Amino acid sequence: PNCFVGFANLPNQVHRKSIKKGFQFTLMVVGESGLGKSTLINTLFNTSVYPNKEHLEAEEPPKTIKIETITTNLEENGIKLKLNVIDTPGFGDFVNNETSWKPILEEIETRFDLYLEQENKVNRKKIVDERVHACLYFIAPTGHSLKPLDIEFMKRLHHRVNLIPVIAKSDLLTEEEVAGFKARIMEDISYNKIQIYRPPIYENDDPETLQENKEIVLRMPFAVVGCDKEIEMKKKKVRGRQYPWGIIDVDNEDHCDFIKLRQMLIRTHMEELREYTNEVLYENYRSNKLIASGN
Ligand code: GDP
Ligand code: MG
Repeated sequence: PNCFVGFANLPNQVHRKSIKKGFQFTLMVVGESGLGKSTLINTLFNTSVYPNKEHLEAEEPPKTIKIETITTNLEENGIKLKLNVIDTPGFGDFVNNETSWKPILEEIETRFDLYLEQENKVNRKKIVDERVHACLYFIAPTGHSLKPLDIEFMKRLHHRVNLIPVIAKSDLLTEEEVAGFKARIMEDISYNKIQIYRPPIYENDDPETLQENKEIVLRMPFAVVGCDKEIEMKKKKVRGRQYPWGIIDVDNEDHCDFIKLRQMLIRTHMEELREYTNEVLYENYRSNKLIASGN
């Protein structure tokens, strides 16, 4: 007899439902101007989320931190993704950057508040989720260690957003410099008890998944290179940056950690990042708020 009840199909059902609805993801980028934030976003999604700057007129440097959101609808093999990218031009660009973290934290909390308001409404059918699911924090490729501004920002934000620190423009450093820099950054992060996003490990993970996650963690903080133009190398087109001594190929894992970052952020952990935002970061914010208001 056929004893299969059928609830083993539940994961597939969820999957099909989300496929129909399409997926949605909100990513924030933070870092001094010129560190390659817009370029990396274009490289990650292989599209011009940000138009090529060379065609635009030079912008006035902002006097305060701005919050700019760009929405792009992407489709790949019939799967739709609505991507919101939040840029924060002006961060770290002033003489005094002491409170640079503040408008960014406020933005994240305002988005939590908007979600909370909708949850409290009678009709919760049409909840729009504008919460920030991950924040790519760009560390300048100094080769030294974290700056006070980096530490301050991460300490202020880590309980509110999934923090993913990256070493910007890592092609400007040698392999040895990157290795030393990474080690010092990780020391600073653990000394300051900063919580960065790490792929969770589950008891019943298969060895392959465990190995994959281990490799991702070993590369943190990801040393990235961005490039939205292709160049010709041995009759092959690659996304890379040309130097007198050769080419840095963005998609080559021996050259940088771009592939590992994309793997985690898009291919394997996008849903995890959304879940952690909802179940832990937002939930903590919500319950603290209720306690504070005496409910
Ligand atoms: P943003 O201000 O942080 O958004 O920086 P942009 O993406 O506009 O990049 C600023 C400049 O740095 C541009 O001229 C880019 O071509 C260049 N750039 C972007 N990414 C990289 C990188 O990974 N390595 C190097 N060497 N240059 C980069
Ligand atoms: Mg930019």
